[in-house]
Amino acid sequence: MFNFLIVTLFPELFSEFVKTSLIGKAVENELLSFEFISLRDFTTDRHRTVDDTPYGGGPGMVMKPEPILKAFATLPDNTHKIFLTPQGKPFQQSDAARYAAFDKPLLLFCGRYEGVDERIVETFDEQLSLGDFVLNGGEVAAMAVVEAISRLIPGVIGKIDSTVEESFSAGLLEYPQYTRPEEVNGKSVPQVLLSGNHKKIEEWRKGQSLLRTYQVRRDLFEQYPLSEHERNLFAEALKGIAEK
Ligand code: SAM
Repeated sequence: MFNFLIVTLFPELFSEFVKTSLIGKAVENELLSFEFISLRDFTTDRHRTVDDTPYGGGPGMVMKPEPILKAFATLPDNTHKIFLTPQGKPFQQSDAARYAAFDKPLLLFCGRYEGVDERIVETFDEQLSLGDFVLNGGEVAAMAVVEAISRLIPGVIGKIDSTVEESFSAGLLEYPQYTRPEEVNGKSVPQVLLSGNHKKIEEWRKGQSLLRTYQVRRDLFEQYPLSEHERNLFAEALKGIAEK
């Protein structure tokens, strides 16, 4: 069972999240477990204070170090501790795959206010960012990280195969998907997908995956080691848009 420990001042934000859809089923099936740690339980004052004003002045409040250190002292020694922060390394599919293979608890620390006292930062194993934007708190980022990891844990989603072809798993964006009806707003499903020819479908999908990555994520495309065969499929896909 994969064990998530989530430090948050707002555990109620997670109450539906852990009960819903694939995550809810995985909890029921004992593939995932969640434990919520409230820093207010590690305060000593009457008001259960977890924040204080910043030294040097300025706007906002800072999360106090002592409740965090006290909470961490109660954790299993092998807990891998992640601080969710816009100042962290951008979270990637490869990180999700690395964590999914863990057999130790993964702690996700959701900051609030202006973040934590800088002297606490080094107690984390890693700092991860969801992207170049600022959220009110780390809870939404934690949910995103939980979902990305959980999809890669065997049994959590129906077919683990569907994660193999997904965007980023092989360094490319996924090919376009279609479902019934065959025509929508005058647009038809690409003929090849109706052909029943699995080899042709696979080649078309690879070409589209390369094309899409080239069009919207040139950074990923440039890192991707194209084989001769893939180069031809990409050229074919490019020709397809030139002909449209
Ligand atoms: N003052 C901080 C700064 O400028 O770096 C931002 C603090 S933010 C208002 C409060 C908390 O939200 C952060 O401590 C972090 O836990 C979370 N957060 C905000 N943006 C995030 C992002 N892009 N990725 C991950 N966590 C984020």
